[in-house]
Parts: sequence; C-alpha cells; structure tokens
Amino acid sequence: MGRKILLDKINVPGIKTYEVYRREGGYASVEKALKKMTPDEVVEEVKTSGLRGRGGAGFPAGMKWSFIDKKSGKPRHLVCNADESEPGTFKDRYLMEYIPHLLIEGMITSSYALGANLSYIYIRGEYMWVYKILERAIAEAKAAGWLGKNILGSGYDLELYVQIGGGAYICGEETALIESLEGNRGNPRLKPPFPAVQGLWQNPTVVNNVETISAVPWIVNNSGADYAAIGIGRSTGTKLISASGNIKNQGVYEIELGLSVYEFMNSDEYCGGMQTDRPLKALVPGGSSVPILPAHLIYKTAAGEDRLMTYESLADGGFATGSMLGSGGFIVYDDRACIVRNTWNFSRFYHHESCGQCTPCREGTGWLEKVLWRIENGQGREEDIELLWSIQSKIEGNTICPLGDAASWPVAAAIRHFRDEFEYHIRFPEKVKNRDHFVHEP
Ligand code: NAD
Ligand code: SF4
Repeated sequence: MGRKILLDKINVPGIKTYEVYRREGGYASVEKALKKMTPDEVVEEVKTSGLRGRGGAGFPAGMKWSFIDKKSGKPRHLVCNADESEPGTFKDRYLMEYIPHLLIEGMITSSYALGANLSYIYIRGEYMWVYKILERAIAEAKAAGWLGKNILGSGYDLELYVQIGGGAYICGEETALIESLEGNRGNPRLKPPFPAVQGLWQNPTVVNNVETISAVPWIVNNSGADYAAIGIGRSTGTKLISASGNIKNQGVYEIELGLSVYEFMNSDEYCGGMQTDRPLKALVPGGSSVPILPAHLIYKTAAGEDRLMTYESLADGGFATGSMLGSGGFIVYDDRACIVRNTWNFSRFYHHESCGQCTPCREGTGWLEKVLWRIENGQGREEDIELLWSIQSKIEGNTICPLGDAASWPVAAAIRHFRDEFEYHIRFPEKVKNRDHFVHEP
C-alpha cells in the first residue's frame, strides 16, 4: 500500500465534522505553528519539503512563499485556488467534500506563515454544494477558536472567507481569479508582476491550489525533511490523481510520486487495469491541457526507461515524446476512442472558455475548433492538417496566459502521434460522416 498523507483519514466516519476531525488529531499543525514556530520557520519547512504546486504548474510552493514581500508593510493574502476546472480533474472537490477541515487547517497554518490576516478560498460556481460544506466547516472552526482574533492567545488574527466563482474556466488562472475576487471580469493580467509582489488589491498575495495547501499540515506536524523523503528527486511527497476513462476503477487516488505509470494503471490498489480486454490506445496524464501520449510511450519513455508518475519522467523527451503531470487528471483511452473527435472536443472547450483578450487565443481557438469539426464530420480538406499545425503554432507562446498554450498542445500532440487518424478522416469521409454519435456544429 502506498503512503497516504492527504487521504489517510478520508474513510473515518464523520471526518467531515469538526468534532471527529479534531479527535483524529486535526488542527495540530496550527497549534504547533502558532505556539512553537515563527512564520519564517514554517516557510523554511515548506521549502525543505520540496512541495510543488499541485494545481498543475508544479512551481515550488516554499519558493513562491519566500517571494512574498514582507517588508512593504502592505497587507498580505493567501488565496486558495479551488476553481478546479481542468477537464479530467476532480481531486480538489474530493478533498473539500470529504475532509473539508484539512483545507481549513492548511489555510490557517499557511496564512500564519505568510503573515496574512485576510485569506480566501475561491471555489468554482459549479461546486455549490461543496461551497456549503466549506462554509459550515469554517463556521465550526471559528466557533472553536481557530479563526478570528488572537488565535490560541498567540496575537495572530485571521479571517477566512469562501468566494464562489461564476463558472468560468479562466478564473482558475491565478490573475483572472484575483480580478474576479476584486469584483471584476476574470481577465488574466500580464505577469510579471507576479501575485507574490502585486496580487489581490495590489497587495502581496500567494495563490495556491487546494491540494498544495492541504499538504502543509502534514509537513508542519512532521517535517519538511520527512516529506522530502517521500517521492523521488524533485518530485517529492504524494500526489492526488483523478483517474477516469476506460479503466476498471475510476476515482481519486493518492500516490507516492515515483510510482510507475504501469503500476498505477494496472494494480488493483489504483486503476485495476483496462475496463475490458480492449487494448490501451492513449493516455492524457495531467488534464486536458497536456499532450496526449500514444500507447508505446505510456509505460516507457523514448529512452526505454520505465515511465514514472513524476513531473520529470512524464515530461521526458519534451513534447516530442513526453507530456506533463499537470493537475493529475489521468484520462485513459482504449482503441474505441477517436482521437480526432477527442481533440475537437477539447478545442471546443478552450474556444468556449477563452476570455478573448488576445487575438491568437480568441481567434485561433475558434479556428482550431472549426477545422477539427469539419475533419471529424467528413468534410476535411487535404490541407487541413497543415492548417491545424500552423494555427496551433501561432497560438503557443503568444498569449497573455497559459490558456493559449493549453489549447495548442493537445492539437500538436494529437497530430504528432495520431496523424494517420486525421488522414483517414480526410481520405475516407463517408466512413466518419454518419457515425452514431452526438454531433455538435460550432
Ligand atoms: P505558471 O508557471 O505561470 O505559475 C506557477 C506559479 O508560480 C504561479 O503561482 C506564479 O505566480 C508562480 N511564479 C512563477 N514564477 C514566479 C516568479 N518568478 N516569482 C513569483 N512567482 C512566480 O503557471 P500557472 O498559470 O499558475 O499554471 C498553469 C498550469 O495550470 C497548467 O500547466 C495546467 O496544468 C494547470 N491548470 C490546472 C487547472 C486545474 O483545474 N487544476 C486548470 C487549468 C490549468
Ligand atoms: Fe484570455 Fe486566451 Fe489571452 Fe488567456 S490566452 S488572456 S484566455 S485570450
């Protein structure tokens, strides 16, 4: 059995409630931090742990924390990004829904480390019932004295609010999220300045994902070094993976980073192998934004090494032969999947969610969707594959926020690895035209 840090108590009856969570040792990290540690000591532990941002980018959390400007005298904020919207990703919901006090505890300990007295959890609008769970947990924590003025007599004050979003994917991008929190339309800002320097109301702000913040209590209760001892290389600790698609056991799993992709896919503790005896065709290991891997690059890297569930191994070889761990949205496809259709579906999503600020993204995502739709529906033209390649290459790297890259990478990878499928669609339109599936016209 792999080590569990986040989900070890998830099955304890009543763990959602303050009473049971506390009885099981909850809020110990707040006690330890506020009574025995300075804020900088907490930051140091998180740095030592090697914990990396679990939203998808994998930026070292402790380093981000140390960028926060503590000298300016401006108020500081911690904002939890709970706007989990990446297709294939549902692990933050699982944490918040089943063990909400873990996130609240992490928010208090982390806010203390950053010197933040006003912090927020920004949750996507579609998670309304989870929002209510969090509201209840915050009220319980406040009633028990873990929030408010002079927490545990330490002189430290913290107010924590949950803000619900309007359901836009782009509000998961940290600067769009900040705009939305300020009451504006969720348009991303150009970075730098990074939020750690100028964030919410121009104040120094750390934006961290739910899973990242939820790992902090364990790190403080144990030590950064203990956390760094789990995992492999720069991929330390554990990671939640949302597994879906043609596998036996879909769900949320906590793995120790460094587990092989083969074991994660095939062991009964995790995915349990393919759902039927149909062969594995492709894998999107880190949510819809990351490149798709064809079967021969799933278990082994191009160099023939075992592919591991780490930031490094999944990216091995760059985009020619690798992908990304991303948000851990692990989507498995068997040989029934149509890669053209899947790519069109992702492109439709990005086109719909583009905020429209930059031309390459606003126009390019629409073109990608349109050209993919006609290929998928038997109206593809000879030149369409080159056209798609050209459009995606003009979006990548030319936009304000990473949504542009996220829209272009899946298209590039699909063409790179499954070009024959695109060609087949164009060459044999009658075979793909009247298939018995849902058809959406852009
Ligand atoms: P990013 O690489 O721009 O930034 C990562 C974090 O590090 C940010 O918080 C940023 O402010 C900080 N940072 C980076 N350099 C810094 C510096 N020099 N000084 C201070 N802070 C610095 O990536 P991002 O836009 O935060 O995230 C992109 C990723 O998000 C994608 O790769 C995708 O996997 C993922 N994603 C996840 C979801 C989801 O629902 N979980 C949705 C969409 C995308
Ligand atoms: Fe908006 Fe797309 Fe530009 Fe991001 S890349 S700012 S979503 S138009």
